[in-house]
This record gives sequence, structure tokens and C-alpha cells, in this order.
Amino acid sequence: MQQLKLEAVTKTEIKQTDPRRSKIMRAVKATDTGPELIVRRLLYSLGYRYRLHRKDLPGNPDIVFPGRKAAIFVHGCFWHGHSCKRGARVPKTNTEYWTEKIRRNAERDKINIGKLEALGWKALIVWECRIKGTQQLQNNLTRFLV
Ligand SMILES: [Zn+2]
Repeated sequence: MQQLKLEAVTKTEIKQTDPRRSKIMRAVKATDTGPELIVRRLLYSLGYRYRLHRKDLPGNPDIVFPGRKAAIFVHGCFWHGHSCKRGARVPKTNTEYWTEKIRRNAERDKINIGKLEALGWKALIVWECRIKGTQQLQNNLTRFLV
């Protein structure tokens, strides 16, 4: 009980003393589900039906349209090395480790998309940083799914 209380205080303190830090913590927590859910909801509202996380396809795409042979990856800018502000962010500790890890992720993404295309599939990467402009995102998705 005492420990729980302490933890709560610590979290509050972090929030109060460093708003930037709590923003990062929220972003990290949301990475897995937030952006992908937004894309899925938008697709659903546009009338598209899809499958999720097909394990039998290269790269295990997040959203799959088997009839169209189309696959969508929703990528976090940091983890997949996007050429944007967030993607360019380099952690101050273990810099070499993270740089290398992210470089390998980006390389693997390219290889997987190549494999998908070799199987007759088309692939689209939706970047986390591009999800806020819903109209733009909608245009990109409908253009991709024609
Ligand atoms: Zn980005």
C-alpha cells in the first residue's frame, strides 16, 4: 500500500516537473495500438473490411486486404527510422545500440516489402506522424486501395 502511494506520487511529480517527459511516456504507451487503431477505424468507416496481422505474409503486415492483395503497415517513426523529426531523434544513452537497431528495422522493412511485391502484393506504410491529417490519410488510403 505504501509502495503504491509512493509510485503515484512519483508519477504526479514527473507530470508536474517535466511535461515533456510525461508526453513521451504517453507516446510510448500508445505506440502499439493508437495509430493503428486510428487507421483501422478510418478504413472501417470508409467501408473497407480487412484482416489483421497476417503471420503468413512477409513482415506480418498490420492490416491486410486479401482480395486486393494489399497490405498496410502502420509504423512508428522512431522504431522504423522515418525521415521526419521524430524519426531523427536519437536516444542520448546507448546511442550506438539504438542507431543500429533502428537501421536494421528499416532494412528489414524494405526487404519485407520487396518480398510482398515479389508475391504479387502491394504494400503501403502509414507513418505515425502522418496520421493526424485525417483527410490526407483518407486520400492516401483510398488511392492505395483502388
Ligand atoms: Zn514520421
